[in-house]
Amino acid sequence: MRDDQSTFQKESPLSFGEGKGVRSRLPEVGTSIFSVMSKLALEHNAINLSQGFPDFAVSEVLVDLIHKNMNAGHNQYAPMPGVPALRKVISEVIEKTYQRATDFETEVTVTAGGTEAIFSTIAALVSAGDEVILFDPSYDCYDPAIRLNGGTPIHINLTAPDFSIDWQEVRDKVTSKTRMIMVNTPHNPSGAVLSELDLRELQEIALKNNLLVLSDEVYERIIFDDKKHESILKYPALANQIIAVFSFGKTFHATGWKVGYTVASPTLTTEIRKAHQFITFSVNTPTQFALAEYMAQPENYLSLGKFYQQKRDFFLQQIKGSSFKPLPCYGSYFQLLSYEGISQLSEKEMAVWMTKEKKLAPIPISVFYKDDTDQKILRFCFAKGEETLRKAGEILNQM
Ligand code: GLN
Repeated sequence: MRDDQSTFQKESPLSFGEGKGVRSRLPEVGTSIFSVMSKLALEHNAINLSQGFPDFAVSEVLVDLIHKNMNAGHNQYAPMPGVPALRKVISEVIEKTYQRATDFETEVTVTAGGTEAIFSTIAALVSAGDEVILFDPSYDCYDPAIRLNGGTPIHINLTAPDFSIDWQEVRDKVTSKTRMIMVNTPHNPSGAVLSELDLRELQEIALKNNLLVLSDEVYERIIFDDKKHESILKYPALANQIIAVFSFGKTFHATGWKVGYTVASPTLTTEIRKAHQFITFSVNTPTQFALAEYMAQPENYLSLGKFYQQKRDFFLQQIKGSSFKPLPCYGSYFQLLSYEGISQLSEKEMAVWMTKEKKLAPIPISVFYKDDTDQKILRFCFAKGEETLRKAGEILNQM
C-alpha cells in the first residue's frame, strides 16, 4: 500500500556516460503530477478524475470551423502575436466582460495555452534575483517557471477549508527584491475565488510597492453560485502593471488544442512577445481562425458557469452519503474532498491506493505545496459525463 515513493519518484540528474554529470536546472522536479496520475489511472483501469480535462466533445460547429479554415488554406505560420481576427474578438469580449478598453494590436498575445502564457510572461519580466510571491497550493508550473528564469519564488501557504489570503502576511513578505505577485482565480486546485476585497488589497500592495501582478484567470467562466469573477482587468489603476492569462481549452472544452492568451499593457506586451517569439513563435493557425469565429457568439461561452455548476451539484449529490467531506467549491472544475476520519494515509499514498485498489484516480493536493502540507484532501475533476460521475460517486460512497 505504501508504494507511492516509486510512483512519485524524482528523476535523477541527467548524465552522459561514465562520471560525466550534467547539471540539472530542476534537480528536485519529477514528472508532472497530472501525467503521473493519468498514467496510473490508465494502467489500473481506474476512472480518471485526476488530471483536469473534460471528457465530453468539443462543439461540432467549432470542429467544422477548423476544417473550413484548413480547407481555406490557413495552414502556414500565424502572425507571431496571434491571428488579428482572433485578437480582435478577444479584445471585444474583454471590453464587454470586464469593461476594459483593450487594443488588440498592442495588448493581446495568443499563446500555446495558459502554461506558455505564464512562462513567457515570467521569462520576459522576471530577472535574476527577483522575488515572486505565489500562493500554495500553487499550480505546478509556477515555481519552476520562476526558477528557470532566475527568479526566487516566495511561497505563502493557504489552507483548507477556505484557502483565503492573509494580506498582512503578503505585506510582510514584500521586500525590495519583490518583482511580481502571482494570483489564480478561480483557483486550481482549491476551487476558491478571490473577492473584490481581495483584489483591493492586492491593488494597494501592488501600487505601493510597484509590483507586477500576474493573474491566472483560465477558469474565468467556470464560477458558481452567482459569484462574479473578479478579473484583475477591472482595476484600471493597475493598468501598467498587470498581466492576465486566459485559456480557450477551459472555455471551449478543448484542452488539447493548447491555445490561450495574455492581456497586458502595450509596454508589458512588447516584452512578453519578445519571449513568446522565441518560445513558440506562433500558435496553430486554423485553430485561431476557427476560435475567432466561434468566440464571436456570446452564447458559446456565457452558459459555461451554469453548465459546470450542474456538474458540481450532480457530483455532490452522488456522494451525499459518503464519508468523504466536500470543501466549498466556487469555481474551476475541481472539487476537493476531505478523507479525514477515513484513512491515516498521506494524500499521495491515498491517491495511489485509491487508483490501484478502488479504481478511482484523484490528485493529492500536497503536491501543490512546496512544504508538502498534507491536509488529507484530494482533488476530483468533475468535468465528466454523468455516467462517469455516478460511477465515481458509487466508489466514494463505499469507502
Ligand atoms: N490543468 C490541468 C489540471 O489542473 C492539468 C494540465 C496538465 O496536465 N498539465 O489538472
